[in-house]
Amino acid sequence: MSSAERRAARAALVKRDGDGCANCGASGTRRVDAGYGRIEERSILELDHRLPIVDAPHLAKDLSNLQLLCFDCHKAKTMAERSARASSGRGLL
Ligand SMILES: [Zn+2]
Repeated sequence: MSSAERRAARAALVKRDGDGCANCGASGTRRVDAGYGRIEERSILELDHRLPIVDAPHLAKDLSNLQLLCFDCHKAKTMAERSARASSGRGLL
């Protein structure tokens, strides 16, 4: 997705689901290290594909397959997907 598409999807999701994590309801910002000594304040909410793109590439831009997750939930989900993929033998390694 282009950054314009991500922005549009994000706005549509906030409208549909509200401005919070779809899993735990968290919202707000966090400080991240943007490199070169710069600290940026960013939303903790990240765009997540309910079904990972690798499993459902045709749903990559489908709003029904998108949700906003906070940084922590997104990380946990990605880790779970990765280990599920590894144990199913479909991974690259
Ligand atoms: Zn969350």
